[in-house]
Amino acid sequence: MEDVSKYFDDGETVANYRLNLEVEDGEFIVFLGPSGCGKTTALRLVAGLEDPSEGAIYFDGQRVDGRSPSDRNVAMVFQNYALYPHMTVAENVAYPLKIQGVPPDERDRKVEEAMSFLHIEDQADKPPAELSGGQRQRVALARAIVREPSVFLLDEPLSNLDAKLRQEMRSELKRLQDELGITTIYVTHNQEEAMSMAHRVVVMNRGTIRQVAPPGELYSRPRTEWVARFIGSPPMNLLRGTRQNGSIEFGEAGSVDLRRTSPGGLETVPRGTVSLGVRPEDITVETDPPSGTAAIEGTVDTVEPLGEYTIVNVAVADQIVNAKVSSTSVDREDRVYLTFDDDDAYLYDENGELLS
Ligand code: ATP
Repeated sequence: MEDVSKYFDDGETVANYRLNLEVEDGEFIVFLGPSGCGKTTALRLVAGLEDPSEGAIYFDGQRVDGRSPSDRNVAMVFQNYALYPHMTVAENVAYPLKIQGVPPDERDRKVEEAMSFLHIEDQADKPPAELSGGQRQRVALARAIVREPSVFLLDEPLSNLDAKLRQEMRSELKRLQDELGITTIYVTHNQEEAMSMAHRVVVMNRGTIRQVAPPGELYSRPRTEWVARFIGSPPMNLLRGTRQNGSIEFGEAGSVDLRRTSPGGLETVPRGTVSLGVRPEDITVETDPPSGTAAIEGTVDTVEPLGEYTIVNVAVADQIVNAKVSSTSVDREDRVYLTFDDDDAYLYDENGELLS
């Protein structure tokens, strides 16, 4: 996609703005972002269901915007599956091949293959109404892969399934994509889905691309405060402070040594307001002031034991910091000291851009 924008309602709604993205052959790309950020529209532009208002879309170096979906050899799977209710499972899967005029023998063979790939061969003669949600989703996927598309487009395909089935289908989809090696674009607002399946995640907000990175990098190196807040659960803590000479001051909550938090050195950190980012899982909560290292001081606001771990919410001056700890003895109103490793700290400038 080259500078692709899409406007609706005579330009009043900007669904996508200047998208630039290159997807490799065989890559699994996930568009991730909050509701209304333009993920579906971006996918529909790739599919050819919408035309860009500006910019160009290429497949294998050939410009395709303006061409119909059938000219692009893409297969799209939606959240509501859109199966034909009056056809059996096998007929549903065979349908795209029938339209293409594939001879019956070859058609049968490919349909069998696709159904066995998705473990639905036992359901071949049933109508969709007699299937579970997960089975219907498999039929929709089989129908999409049967014609060997060059691009596979999926729009929230798992959102109608319950949590357990969603997890199962996640690994199934990943296996499918791995084995078939089809270039795939997958739309979701679910972080776990994105992080567990994608080769690269495209984080979107308000119609624009905020960051494109492999899941690990997105987590370990969010380039903006917005992405830092969006990825991770609970999200990264971002504490507003002021740079003074060699430290960042947090008012009565104390300060941290800047040399510790800025890998690029002091020169790269501007004077004035900056945000210090630390993930909840990287924070240690201590009841005594640690010796030899600066700590941020605060008062415990709430303690949420969640079984596997506990979230401690700490009031630090007028901000709240979340710490995710495996166990704790602290209580509401306790005075605590928050510490973290140098490598786990991020600094963002006034505009929310990562300083490095
Ligand atoms: P969700 O996760 O809720 O499906 P999304 O990220 O997929 O959201 P889009 O459906 O792409 O977002 O919508 C992006 C913006 O474009 C929204 O403001 C939406 O209202 C608007 N929009 C989408 N399609 C149309 C349309 N056909 N006409 C007018 N506005 C539209």
